[in-house]
Amino acid sequence: MALVAAVVVAAGQGLRAGGDLPKQFRRIAGHTLLEHALSAFVGAPKVTLIQPVIRQDDLSLASTLIGSMDVLTPVSGGTTRQASVRAGLEALAPRRPDIVLVHDAARPFASASLIARAIEAAEKIGAAIPALPVTDTVKRIDATGRIEATVDRTTIRLVQTPQGFAFPALLEAHRRAAMQGYNDFTDDSALAEWAGMKVGVFQGEPGNIKLTTPEDFLLAEAQQFIPLGDVRTGFGIDVHAFGSGNHVTLGGIRIPNDKALTGHSDADVALHALTDAVLGAISDGDIGAHFPPTDPQWRGASSDRFLDFAVERVRARGGRIAHLDLTVVCEAPRIAAHRDLIRANIARLARIDVERVAVKATTSEKLGFTGRGEGIVAYATATVRLPWGPG
Ligand code: MG
Repeated sequence: MALVAAVVVAAGQGLRAGGDLPKQFRRIAGHTLLEHALSAFVGAPKVTLIQPVIRQDDLSLASTLIGSMDVLTPVSGGTTRQASVRAGLEALAPRRPDIVLVHDAARPFASASLIARAIEAAEKIGAAIPALPVTDTVKRIDATGRIEATVDRTTIRLVQTPQGFAFPALLEAHRRAAMQGYNDFTDDSALAEWAGMKVGVFQGEPGNIKLTTPEDFLLAEAQQFIPLGDVRTGFGIDVHAFGSGNHVTLGGIRIPNDKALTGHSDADVALHALTDAVLGAISDGDIGAHFPPTDPQWRGASSDRFLDFAVERVRARGGRIAHLDLTVVCEAPRIAAHRDLIRANIARLARIDVERVAVKATTSEKLGFTGRGEGIVAYATATVRLPWGPG
């Protein structure tokens, strides 16, 4: 059986999609485009080697995101897409794959059947790309924007990735192009054509879109929510008392304080309230039912795992967390300076965009146990979207 590899290129620094990270690190449905793109190949039974190519500056970010995925150690990309693909091919070369699929991380929705078609076509033809017919009328215009001609659209195709190739031929073509000073082929089929390879076409997928503009991301995000019409709200509250110590942990962030919170696990009152809010939204018991305080294995445990567990319970139902809202009540420590870190950490744990996490803090005007500095109370709501179904 042919040894099939995939090169997933995520080395661009394009910020056209908005935000301050390259678009391959922006999230759709809770996961970055890079994770989506890689998972498509991880889930493809015939693909055994998956080589991510990442911009040098993003290697550590990428390794935290994909460190646990069944992919090869990322290699750093070059200054052009072509150089990045070549870096991936060179990294694969010692393993001598027969077939290689080259895919852009900006296309997070490639399906298993598309990947299977790419492999089949590459095995049969040696070089093949997914393409779609054009349904709109196509015009050619001049420099002033006036129409010169109506193009026969039956001869036009819109090209996607993954593109499939016999590995040795594509590697050789890339080496030759680089040696001859050609560095700007924008896709591998263009390079393959230049090298004299015959490139075939197989059926692409309308859903296999390339996300480029902020609007593309909005639309892709919205599409994830459409089937999730069952909107639920959960509420959680937690209290921990102060004891001796020099810091508290709130939302997974360590904050210096002249007293520590005591109790079960790391006493992260914020993550406990959030965990109960998420469990409440799916009517799935509470934190104490799933992680009994009497069970010694949770003593001193990081509360990350509690929220992570609740988030997984939502995902197991095919649902998504739409929003988390946390309010912490205490006289000290002051939360404001740590708010952004806490938000980012909660967003990371919940695998949602930071815009979907609110963190607020208030004192209780020296009233009650929080006012007397005896402890901290946290309140949280979670908005969860589930697919319509029984119950
Ligand atoms: Mg608690």
